[in-house]
Amino acid sequence: MADVNAVPTPGFDSFGLHADILRAIAEQGYTQPTPIQAQAIPVVLSGRDVMGAAQTGTGKTASFSLPIIQRLLPDANTSASPARHPVRALILTPTRELADQVADNVRAYAGHTPLRNTVVFGGVDMNPQKDTLRRGVEILIATPGRLLDHVEQKTVNLSQVKMLVLDEADRMLDMGFLPDLQRILNLLPKQRQTLLFSATFSNEIKKLASSYLTNPLTIEVARRNATADNVEQVVYEVDEDDKRAAVVQILRDRDLKQVIVFVNSKVGASRLARQLEREGVVTAAIHGDKSQNERMQALEAFKQGGIQALVATDVAARGLDISDLPGVINYDLPYNPEDYVHRIGRTGRAGASGEAISLCAPDERKQIVEIEKLIKRELKRGELVLERRSRPRDDRGERFERSDRSERGERSDRGERHSRHEGLRVSRSGGTAPRRVRPEDEFFYKPYEPSTSASADEAQHDGRSSQASGAPTAFGGLPDKAPKRQVAALLAGFPRKASH
Ligand code: AMP
Repeated sequence: MADVNAVPTPGFDSFGLHADILRAIAEQGYTQPTPIQAQAIPVVLSGRDVMGAAQTGTGKTASFSLPIIQRLLPDANTSASPARHPVRALILTPTRELADQVADNVRAYAGHTPLRNTVVFGGVDMNPQKDTLRRGVEILIATPGRLLDHVEQKTVNLSQVKMLVLDEADRMLDMGFLPDLQRILNLLPKQRQTLLFSATFSNEIKKLASSYLTNPLTIEVARRNATADNVEQVVYEVDEDDKRAAVVQILRDRDLKQVIVFVNSKVGASRLARQLEREGVVTAAIHGDKSQNERMQALEAFKQGGIQALVATDVAARGLDISDLPGVINYDLPYNPEDYVHRIGRTGRAGASGEAISLCAPDERKQIVEIEKLIKRELKRGELVLERRSRPRDDRGERFERSDRSERGERSDRGERHSRHEGLRVSRSGGTAPRRVRPEDEFFYKPYEPSTSASADEAQHDGRSSQASGAPTAFGGLPDKAPKRQVAALLAGFPRKASH
């Protein structure tokens, strides 16, 4: 395994990259390669397979994009014939947002070369994508589901791919893309270079690598599952009902110009965004119920600085690249401790400093313990003296339940869940008759499972991948069949606590 600390950082000009690429790098304002770039660029240029353990924010996109462009340059041409522009490099990402970001980077890095590139993801009209693909592109960035749609419609031919990147491979597996990945991998020439990037190296990732990579060099730039050293992390114990007031106070006291506020559910994201707006914080929410356009618009407005707080679910925020983001706030603690690593990776990027603030309700302490176990360090506890408490009613005039989670029918413990009867809520305006609140999403009735929710998110727009993983085919819709492991979990009979 390469130890980056032992290697003096070379400059970009030491890699033998073409002048057109160096020019693009200079235009981006990069002066020194980041550690993952210093390690990976020479190895990728040499043609060897790579397993890169690097979080988003480390500069990993350039670490594979720059050498890909360099290696494809001998084939670059300005011919108008599509046949002269076959797909030679395929970059697969788990989400549309990440695909879009990688594509932005590739477009910039290849901007002075004749190499063509494009991005395809679900949730948008396929026709413009088809037109671009038919004209020919050398570098294709794609989410797996939409790529397979194009394969089926014969708008893309992958038989000449010689470089493959699996970006955020752990996420792709989490999201249930393994069957799609296997289908895609089987369409590619065996003779190719494969680069796999992942924030974590789970056993599943290692298995994937041993099946599809040949003698890869492992490059690890940060301790596995470690969180960025330049991110100051602090936990405040706050009652669930006071979290909103805590966010407002933190934003003001710490003078945080922009933050991403993470919540665990789509309905929670929308509600918190509305509440923060009412408190005078310019806010937008991104989650799986938002259309692709709404998500892109919110993201763009956030990047332009027009929005102070972006309230996001894990799925929607995955892989977001927002430079100079001063902080993230965990409004809900993630059920999956690895999501904590992904969340705080949104700040402190490319060497900048950042703050990661977690609000921990008493029943979330267990999640902190899990996170600390994963990152192998204790998180600093801070004290937050609230100047005022949150109003005890939400914006629909209904009283807050004891916690968001109880209202949603979720439990703090993974694997446990409330019964569906907890979807009953007393309508305060309409008398005392209990009203059956239709579940917004099957997600709220399941134990936390990143794979399912994430697949659903993609499936809403891709309309395919989730079917392979047994997840809902569309938001708001219930799956035809519950995935087997959930049934197993229920049959196993997790202890149920009395509901609030
Ligand atoms: P990534 O991990 O690829 O998402 O990159 C994170 C951020 O770092 C992006 O905004 C990149 O534009 C930026 N970046 C990548 N490489 C460098 C570099 N060598 N110097 C400064 N910033 C960089």
